[in-house]
Amino acid sequence: MAGDRTRRGFLGWASSAMAGLGLAEGRVRAADTRHAPGGEDYYDKLGVTKIINAAGTYTALSASTMPPSVQAAVALAAKHPVRLQELHKAAGEYLARQLKCEAAMVTAGAASALTLATAAAVTQGSRTAIHDIPTDVTGLKNEVIAQKSHRYEYDHAIRNCGTRFVEVVTLADYEGAFTERTAMTNFFNAAEQGEIGREDWVRVAHRHGVPCLIDAAADVPPISNLWNYTQMGFDMVAFSGGKGMRGPQNAGLLLGRKDLIAAATQNNSPNSDAVGRGMKVSKEQIVGMVAAVDWFLSQSDAAMEAEFRRRAGRIAAQLKNIPTLEARVAIPNVAANAVPHLLLRYDTERVKIRPGEVMAELRRGTPSIELNPQTGKKAGGGLPSDENTIVVGVWMLEPGEDLIVAGRLKEVLEKAAGA
Ligand SMILES: *Cc1c(COP(=O)(O)O)cnc(C)c1O
Repeated sequence: MAGDRTRRGFLGWASSAMAGLGLAEGRVRAADTRHAPGGEDYYDKLGVTKIINAAGTYTALSASTMPPSVQAAVALAAKHPVRLQELHKAAGEYLARQLKCEAAMVTAGAASALTLATAAAVTQGSRTAIHDIPTDVTGLKNEVIAQKSHRYEYDHAIRNCGTRFVEVVTLADYEGAFTERTAMTNFFNAAEQGEIGREDWVRVAHRHGVPCLIDAAADVPPISNLWNYTQMGFDMVAFSGGKGMRGPQNAGLLLGRKDLIAAATQNNSPNSDAVGRGMKVSKEQIVGMVAAVDWFLSQSDAAMEAEFRRRAGRIAAQLKNIPTLEARVAIPNVAANAVPHLLLRYDTERVKIRPGEVMAELRRGTPSIELNPQTGKKAGGGLPSDENTIVVGVWMLEPGEDLIVAGRLKEVLEKAAGA
């Protein structure tokens, strides 16, 4: 429906523009076909396989698809040049109001938000420092404190500013870790372990006058997480835009204290002599991110959860005759991807195929389906999976795809059961 509106809007705009140029009706119609808003399918043209995403918001699987209202906003934004800094500023102010925080900026993803947050803390907006990082950090605060169990692959985004990590385990370690070189602390929100809780983490850092960053990249829903962490006192909060919020995959949010977001902005594109220059955010990304936030705020946690449970239920119903198979729905007990997932456990002595092989089989089929990577693995990511469990991530499925996934699973499991 939103698509129809966009199409009419586009055709209306295009025809009046063409008429203004004095072009005949026929030529207008020809131009419309070539530059139809639907456009040419470049996945087909390039021979790239379109997949059914029964995994989740995984970066390598292009994470999510933008809802129609977001796609339409991006397509409209693509039609007009603007002054990029004016757009950045207006988007930031709008997002800060919607998300109940002092300031906000659209970044090129959560990893970019982590780098820019660190750059803000290290440079504190000093022109010389902005120029000097990451190679010359002499005289700059360049230590970042983190819990040992919160060290992860995204540390790299923080090290990009020439920082080094100081690891702590206990609260006493933490109290003693602050020096005159401490720039910032980092909290990995979806960590499965760690002795120090969020409130203590923030309280101790603030007693030392040090800003706290929290990486909550994949941690919506619940929708309220978009303001929970700034309200808890975290000075900077990073979110991925292309995961649960379903914005452009290369967009993200950095939310937080006004002075720090301003310093982060100075370290970002379009400034050229800055660590963030390679993290350029386009007008399409900025508008797409804002539209995705609008879309996400219009949803409800309860309705989303109910819909994901219905999808899980529809798939499970198709598999009820598979011998030994038990279906259950589980929500990860960590902050990330906290939505219903379908877990299918069966006896591999009776249904003679390992979950990993089912995953490969569905990937090879047409249409190609990706199951959740926890399939066949021992518990992880907050899910109680094991070597006999298939994990179906239902939240990124498009309407109707649940039954396609169910049909393929049924086919493969029935064959292995010798039915
Ligand atoms: C996905 C993720 C990121 C990176 O997010 P992008 O938007 O892809 O840059 C950072 N941290 C965590 C914990 C993530 O899950």
